[in-house]
Amino acid sequence: MNRQILKMDQITKTFHMGEEEQTVLNHINLTVNIGDFVAILGPSGSGKTTLMNIVGCLDTPTSGQYILSNHQVDTLDEAKLASIRNKEIGFVFQQFQLLPRLNAWQNVELPLVYRGLPEKLRKERAKEMLQKVGLADKLRNRPNQLSGGQQQRVAIARAMVTGPTILLADEPTGALDQKTGQQIMKLFHELHNEGKTIIMITHDKEIAQHASRIVHILDGQLSEECV
Ligand code: ADP
Repeated sequence: MNRQILKMDQITKTFHMGEEEQTVLNHINLTVNIGDFVAILGPSGSGKTTLMNIVGCLDTPTSGQYILSNHQVDTLDEAKLASIRNKEIGFVFQQFQLLPRLNAWQNVELPLVYRGLPEKLRKERAKEMLQKVGLADKLRNRPNQLSGGQQQRVAIARAMVTGPTILLADEPTGALDQKTGQQIMKLFHELHNEGKTIIMITHDKEIAQHASRIVHILDGQLSEECV
């Protein structure tokens, strides 16, 4: 039986800019089950980042109910939101967001430093993750000594090292050439086959085809297509 991990019910987000008001998400409903690989596909300005910020507990909706792993997160204050975000979500960004002075191993280890894990365990786990993404021979390379695709693999290892419930990727192939992007999608397929729940935001129709569900976002509304 499918187990629900995320449920959005009538989520609305309105921004106020002086006198102006803009409703960017308009009564959105979205359900994600454990093990889903969902692409949120839409053009620039359609509300993808706004939706991602709410899914990833970086922002709260103006109205509506959002349940993530049995927590009702729409009403939480920033401290509680941050604690749920750290536990449940692993972020992958278009521009990788690695720390340039740290090598691959240290970048992946960092979230475990924040969690206060003992060094030996941290190093072991970070190494395992880098092996998993195919970078066992690049542990001591700094980001500028890695290709774009390799940097994104490090970022994926970093997102996964804490064992998040959801991998949330914002345009993960946006800074990569087509071939490298396909390789990153192959890695996502492997993670999905292992049961990982993935939500990927993209404007790229071809990249979205890699997901097992495609949800279109347009003018602040969602519609799902059958893949
Ligand atoms: P996408 O990621 O699909 O390009 P966004 O979610 O970034 O779309 O933006 C959707 C709309 O919301 C845009 O018109 C943008 O100007 C507006 N918007 C996003 N964030 C804010 C904000 N913090 N304040 C005001 N308007 C915003």
